[in-house]
Amino acid sequence: MQEYGIKNPSAKLTPEGLNVAIAHWNLSPEELTQKSVELNQGVLNDSGALAVDTGKFTGRSPKDKFTVIDDITRDTVDWGAINIPMEPEVFDKLYNKVCDYLKDKEVWVRDAYACADPKYRLNIRVINEEPWANLFCNNLFLRPTEEEILTQEPDWHIIQVPSFLADPEVDGTRQGNFTIVNFTKKVILIGGSAYTGEMKKGIFGVLNFILPNNHNTLSMHCSANEGEEGDVALFFGLSGTGKTTLSADPNRPLIGDDEHGWADGSIFNFEGGCYAKCIDLSEEKEPQIYAAIKEGALLENISFYPGTNKVDYSDASKTENTRVAYPIEHIKNAKKPSYGGNPKNIFFLTCDAFGILPPISKLSKGQAMYHFLSGYTAKVAGTEVGITEPQTTFSACFGHVFLPLHPTKYAELLGEKLIEHPEVNVWLVNTGWSGGPYGVGERMSLKHTRSMIGAAMKGELDNVEYETHDVFGVAFPKEVPNVPSEILNPRNTWENNEEYDNKAIELASLFVKNFEKYASEANDEILAAAPKTELNV
Ligand code: ATP
Ligand code: MN
Repeated sequence: MQEYGIKNPSAKLTPEGLNVAIAHWNLSPEELTQKSVELNQGVLNDSGALAVDTGKFTGRSPKDKFTVIDDITRDTVDWGAINIPMEPEVFDKLYNKVCDYLKDKEVWVRDAYACADPKYRLNIRVINEEPWANLFCNNLFLRPTEEEILTQEPDWHIIQVPSFLADPEVDGTRQGNFTIVNFTKKVILIGGSAYTGEMKKGIFGVLNFILPNNHNTLSMHCSANEGEEGDVALFFGLSGTGKTTLSADPNRPLIGDDEHGWADGSIFNFEGGCYAKCIDLSEEKEPQIYAAIKEGALLENISFYPGTNKVDYSDASKTENTRVAYPIEHIKNAKKPSYGGNPKNIFFLTCDAFGILPPISKLSKGQAMYHFLSGYTAKVAGTEVGITEPQTTFSACFGHVFLPLHPTKYAELLGEKLIEHPEVNVWLVNTGWSGGPYGVGERMSLKHTRSMIGAAMKGELDNVEYETHDVFGVAFPKEVPNVPSEILNPRNTWENNEEYDNKAIELASLFVKNFEKYASEANDEILAAAPKTELNV
């Protein structure tokens, strides 16, 4: 085996059964970018970022994600369509096949870690088939210093082999691609898909097991930033609801854009970078993200204006889910290290394609728990294979697909935090449609959403008048600085009020039906937060 780069002198790939031809250890972003260009796997855009195509997969493939059923997971994991079991022997056979496959290959190895709070640090060693996938890991995970690399031992391995395809007939997978998490061996094995989000969300899933299960610590699918006075805000939400967009704020240092833990007194980022959507990105609307697309960043599945290397951000011909991965330092006011104190404000972001929920409303504790368990949004095109039109979704804790444990475990931990910190405000923010449903109304203006959350964070909504929503029972402000008052009550934005009421009841019924599975676990306070399924009762 030929080896290049820097590494812990005692580090070997062979104990993992891997005997490759060439291993490049911990190359710099510049080297990985250059290698990718040399190998014709990517090109530079006009601002110096590397642009690649991820191939057949431009989103995660949740139906092909498996978890090995073993002594650690058997009685803890919430098995089903989200956590699909795989027998250890099936994993071992496939793992050996992957090792065989890699024997004469060149790989790119990276030592990284997750969790900015040293108490929870999880060391990760990633083995990639392509240098740009390794650049992604450099950007998204936390980066050890050169000194740390020399002594670091991995806790977990990610082995990502996009050009290896499983044979579903003999390998126990659903199709050629797979992501398999093995808690005993501490390995995430990825084959058949080069979509980088599989690695990022693979580790998120692992932390969503370890933190609540082993440390009784809440893990969250949310972004976080911090105000001048150290006031932390969390933004929960499913894909496309605005976690990355709204947490990038020139006045509030960024803690992280997607995955955090809430330990005693601290919010800490799991990651070391951001993975921002690029569709329709503009310098004017999202200046911070735009400026982050420079040397060292990785653009995925974008297209150039013909004959140039200037990105056409409106082009969705490869996918709606165009992305850029960059280290958090590319955001000017990123907070280092990436942690802050207890949150002061929590925003639940929902992209409501029905256009029913108010653009901002304040939730009681019971309502907060109800909406956390419901995790409502309308999924917008792209992040998952096969979704091209918005469709309504309920995903517990705003990220059910990433949760190995039953959602009530995370809800319990959040509930404890809200009791412990009654001063925390919880807001429901609709970043979706206004003036009617998808097709009739329009997406809420980003400027207005920013004004509303800004006002909430500054305390400007503490002493204004509120109105209670007839169906959802949430309280929405009658005025917000710099926002036209007529949009604050969504009913007023619809041409036909009766149509609005009918749709609101229809959506409420979907909430209630979805909540049935949690009803037996919920207390009266949470149950009382359910929306009404009939008007005037
Ligand atoms: P993921 O979990 O997939 O990373 P996310 O929650 O981080 O998703 P964003 O990347 O922030 O989602 O995507 C929100 C998208 O919606 C952006 O492309 C943003 O420009 C667009 N958008 C349009 N209107 C709004 C609005 N009012 N609020 C927030 N985002 C908006
Ligand atoms: Mn995001």
